[in-house]
Amino acid sequence: MKKFDYYQPESLKEAYGLMEKLNGEARFIAGGTDVIVRIKQGALHPDALISLRRISALKGLGNEDGLSMGSMTLFRDIERDPAIARDYPALGEAASVLANPQVRNVATIGGNLCNAAPSADAAPPLMVLEATLTIEGPGGQREVSIEDFFRGPGETCLEHTEVVTRITIPKKRKGTGMAFLKIGRVAQDIAIANAAALIVVENGVCRKCRLSAGAVAPVPLRLKRIEGIVEGRKIEPDLLDRVAEMVQEDVSPITDVRSTAQYRKTVSGILVKRAIKEALDRAG
Ligand SMILES: Cc1cc2nc3c(=O)[nH]c(=O)nc-3n(C[C@H](O)[C@H](O)[C@H](O)COP(=O)(O)OP(=O)(O)OC[C@H]3O[C@@H](n4cnc5c(N)ncnc54)[C@H](O)[C@@H]3O)c2cc1C
Repeated sequence: MKKFDYYQPESLKEAYGLMEKLNGEARFIAGGTDVIVRIKQGALHPDALISLRRISALKGLGNEDGLSMGSMTLFRDIERDPAIARDYPALGEAASVLANPQVRNVATIGGNLCNAAPSADAAPPLMVLEATLTIEGPGGQREVSIEDFFRGPGETCLEHTEVVTRITIPKKRKGTGMAFLKIGRVAQDIAIANAAALIVVENGVCRKCRLSAGAVAPVPLRLKRIEGIVEGRKIEPDLLDRVAEMVQEDVSPITDVRSTAQYRKTVSGILVKRAIKEALDRAG
């Protein structure tokens, strides 16, 4: 393994200033559960790692007008947060099945998104919750919808000097139900496929539907065509069967060590259908 320098800046400005100075030959490190693995595998050879751990601006979890999480929020904290369990259970469920407690004690939500794996467990719940990412770098601050953040496997809209600072989710509307589901080869494994659904119901009719599927395309997907078909209708078994078929049409998975493409297609349809059912039950 190539030797690298290790920096521990105390402020955001110092962190992206360092990255600018190192001319892109460095990497930010949060929990390190992706970046260190990739260095050990020889897939990354940075001259330096710039740790985000000492930067207090990247920490903190607040639930006043919606949910606001610093990018350094640990999955262990998300999993244990009672307000998340009550108001944003899809996110709490995704956190509680990511890897294992040892990984969740160091892995961050920002790292999960910035690593940009199509299977990232935090992505589908944040997609259906319409999260916004705050990004900061030498050019200033900007906000990006999670839908526009991912560009391909391992690729995001971030410039190399930019840091994701916060993730915010709008306040939960009355009558909302949501769910996250995942299937892996074994418990604690990275997803073969995952999915999230958010449903708002009024008088038995679906007023809002948000659907997302992961590990079935180069980026985590929002299933907008299918959302449009569900909205304005009563969610009944026939509609759910049609949804499962349409998911199979809209995904484009690959075959890899975890699964065949065909299995991913079939199972993602089933996961989305079950996630809608679960969300509907929770919407009351
Ligand atoms: C055994 C094991 C099991 C795993 N299981 C799962 C699983 O079930 N589901 C799943 O989704 N993932 C899984 N992972 C992957 C990993 O744990 C998660 O993606 C984790 O959330 C990464 O967060 P981190 O803080 O460790 O990121 P790091 O490894 O520190 O960083 C990841 C990438 O993001 C960049 N980065 C980090 N934070 C920022 C920021 N704020 N701004 C800009 N760039 C940033 C880094 O430069 C790096 O490129 C697993 C990993 C291991 C080792």
